[in-house]
Amino acid sequence: MKLVDAHIHLSDMEYAKHTDELVEDAKNSGVAALVSNSMDLETSIRNLQLAEKYSGIVYPALGIHPWNVNVLKENELEETLKLISDHAQKKTIVAIGEIGLDSKYENIWDKQLMVFNNMLQLAEKLQFPVIVHSRGTTAKIVEMLPSYNLKRVLLHWFSYPLTALSDTVAHGYSITEGPPAAYSSGIREVVEKVPLTNLLTETDGPVKYWKPPFNGQLTKPSFISNVVKAIAEVKSISFADVAEQVTRNFEKFFNITLT
Ligand SMILES: [Zn+2]
Repeated sequence: MKLVDAHIHLSDMEYAKHTDELVEDAKNSGVAALVSNSMDLETSIRNLQLAEKYSGIVYPALGIHPWNVNVLKENELEETLKLISDHAQKKTIVAIGEIGLDSKYENIWDKQLMVFNNMLQLAEKLQFPVIVHSRGTTAKIVEMLPSYNLKRVLLHWFSYPLTALSDTVAHGYSITEGPPAAYSSGIREVVEKVPLTNLLTETDGPVKYWKPPFNGQLTKPSFISNVVKAIAEVKSISFADVAEQVTRNFEKFFNITLT
């Protein structure tokens, strides 16, 4: 039985001194793969280095997060697109991410849209999976994505509106849920409604979770077992069956075989 973390940020500075410990924690808790997401060019490069260092367990996703579209250096977008293109062809990355739109940053909305659309165009051209941040914009994103020919779309930390979930599933997109599945009634409702074949697990570390059983401790890959346990509870399926199906979803989505 394997567990998977489809969305973590190992390249985050908060994790800089802890990567050995985190990879060890993953191995000790049965987490066979960590998809390390990027925020900008710098973290994209760092994720490539981490994937080389921890080969066979850390898989990089490169991209520009909507929070960073306003602080991009000259040519950073073009350079990041080129880096993605080169590494996608070499198969040294598994997805484009984290990309998306965030309604809390309306003042940079046009830039968010411009960067997101650039990333989606590249994903379409490469026929590559995307990992999407959609805080407050899920309905809008689910409406705009079908204009691109994208087969593999992962809406990370899907929370609301529930009405967008049926469209998400109908288009064959997937979602990730993380530690809040253990304590948030809203997230548990999403978990209940989403077919298990469209669900993957994440920690989104170093984001911290303040409620029990996490209590603000450093977010680690071993939290995935709490997430699988929560999904198993909500869906009344065994822990092993959830783990097995989520691993299958993961392998199919990222087109990798876990050993
Ligand atoms: Zn994230």
